Amino acid sequence: MKNKKTVLITGASRGIGRAIAILFAKNNYNVVINYNKSEEEVKSLLKELESENCSARIFKADISKIEEANALVNYTIGQFEKIDILVNNAGISRFNLFTDISYDEWHEVMNVNLNSVFYVTKKALQYMIPEHEGKIINISSMWGLVGSANEVHYSTSKAALIGMTKALAKELGPSNIQVNCIAPGVIETDMLNDVDEDTIEMLKYDTPLMRIGKPMDIARCALFLASEGGDFITGQVISSNGGFVIN
Ligand code: NAP
Repeated sequence: MKNKKTVLITGASRGIGRAIAILFAKNNYNVVINYNKSEEEVKSLLKELESENCSARIFKADISKIEEANALVNYTIGQFEKIDILVNNAGISRFNLFTDISYDEWHEVMNVNLNSVFYVTKKALQYMIPEHEGKIINISSMWGLVGSANEVHYSTSKAALIGMTKALAKELGPSNIQVNCIAPGVIETDMLNDVDEDTIEMLKYDTPLMRIGKPMDIARCALFLASEGGDFITGQVISSNGGFVIN
């Protein structure tokens, strides 16, 4: 297990993070799966991966809290000695008119979607920089690129992640650490539970590839960025969105 690369994925009990965990585990990585509330889902995922002889661990941490974010990184190092790939995936969405967003809701979105990435990444870099090798993949959103009405807080947090990705890529280049961002389009996960069927149909119609994405579409993109194929790519935003947004 120590000769394998290790990936730490935040928010991997469900949705995109879960698909990333499965794909990396099946591609011979040691996988640390962070979750917060979905204990049942994460335990069944662990069982599934172990039954296929994959190397996986689960760790509960609310990464919007500094101590828990630090504990997650320490746990990963304790289990596998290093972090080769960090995938900052955990996120929440909230729908509200800007004028109706409460102060608490604003801070909740910023804490989970943005501040957590600062906490986990800052701690992980203590171990990654001395290795002079590593890759960080931040999961943003196409709404961070173009903005979404009724999701100003969400869009702001995701746009900030893009800024963080670009700045950090410049700072960490000399340490041979690539920092990139995936900005998914509409992806079929629990995050869409509150979106009605008509809206989903409209979104498909507005997507040149005529479908919404699947978590595995994003996982494959992350696996590529983590591979040797991603060695000369840094500070970039890969917008895996079916053509919904073309810059
Ligand atoms: P999802 O199905 O709702 O899953 C969210 C994941 O984040 C869950 O595993 C959840 O864990 C975890 N999480 C939430 N708050 C957390 C916290 N405080 N600490 C640790 N983990 C936490 O969402 P998803 O669609 O897979 O989204 C994954 C990422 O992709 C997010 O950053 C999202 O913004 C981004 N994204 C999604 C879409 C889309 O259309 N689905 C589009 C663009 C970008 P627990 O359930 O265990 O609490």
